[in-house]
Amino acid sequence: MSNKILVTGGAGYIGSVTVWALLRSGYEVVILDTLAKGHRQALPETCTFVKGDIGDTSLVRQVIRAHGIERVIHFAAFSLVGESVEHPLRYFQNNLVQGIRFIDTCVENGVTSFILSSTAAVYGDPVHIPIVETHPLAPKNPYGFSKLGLEQVLTSYRQTHGLNVAFLRYFNAAGADTMNGIGEDHTPETHLIPIIFQTALGKREKVFVFGGDYDTPDGTAIRDYIHVSDLAQAHIKVLERVGGGLKHLAYNLGIGKGYSVLEVLTMAREVCGREIPYEITGRRTGDPPILVASPDRFHAEFGWEPQFGELRDILASAWQWHQTHPEGYQGEARGTA
Ligand code: UDP
Repeated sequence: MSNKILVTGGAGYIGSVTVWALLRSGYEVVILDTLAKGHRQALPETCTFVKGDIGDTSLVRQVIRAHGIERVIHFAAFSLVGESVEHPLRYFQNNLVQGIRFIDTCVENGVTSFILSSTAAVYGDPVHIPIVETHPLAPKNPYGFSKLGLEQVLTSYRQTHGLNVAFLRYFNAAGADTMNGIGEDHTPETHLIPIIFQTALGKREKVFVFGGDYDTPDGTAIRDYIHVSDLAQAHIKVLERVGGGLKHLAYNLGIGKGYSVLEVLTMAREVCGREIPYEITGRRTGDPPILVASPDRFHAEFGWEPQFGELRDILASAWQWHQTHPEGYQGEARGTA
């Protein structure tokens, strides 16, 4: 089997950390990314990088054939819940329509295994916590629908074409890969932890906490934050078995512990030793009150525990990156792998 992995969205936050982890594990990597959201500076200078779109069928065909690609990890997607509620078509078009076209082109050109970057948003508002993979699938925003749609398309391709598939449903990716200098940098930034540390650095006046009236102990929303390097390692574990030997199609990736927005703020303040002003405002449309994973299926099958089991360590890694990259990737020069 070819050792070359096609990674779409490989210049994004989780994608780039996974690219470095794949290279370190001895894989060759071909990255396909539009750079609309991703950062070329997040990648090694010497990697095989193709600037382009997953919906560009002739480009995808050419990349797969030229490199003899058999396995794909598909990260490329828009991933903001709030934006997806405001611009549903953008999400259905980019994630779902282009994604379906991409899957079909992959299968037509000899791809045999496909790992999908999926999300806890496929579950919608939880009926029970922690969320197991058999929890009802009821997305409450277009982002979650678009990912669930791709899961279903892949399930059909599995039945019809024998495609090996795995869906990795991430909870909240967080932290930085400090070894390779990779952190979270979106434009505009909407994620809680980068916003907290930008505020700690004085780049924002305060953090707006979205919703103080949820049915949670302190009234703010609860999430399960998993370190981005642990996510990357999980992809490699799945890659090793996706050609045969996976017991399930879907796996939750979280640490199994939930923290409220105020708890994250308090811990972040302790980690950086600075004041972080905040103000509680209205809820953000499309946000479920609580998302906490049961990671038991993944842990049982792979006998694997996250390296970063404590939110404090996740926050410390993020803080380190933000301190050394106060402007994100702007002005960053990249060394070699
Ligand atoms: N959040 C917040 N203020 C912000 C950004 C996020 O209160 O400026 C909350 C958000 O409503 C959610 C949690 O923090 O409850 C994590 O949000 P994030 O956007 O980081 O990730 P998501 O859960 O949307 O994937």
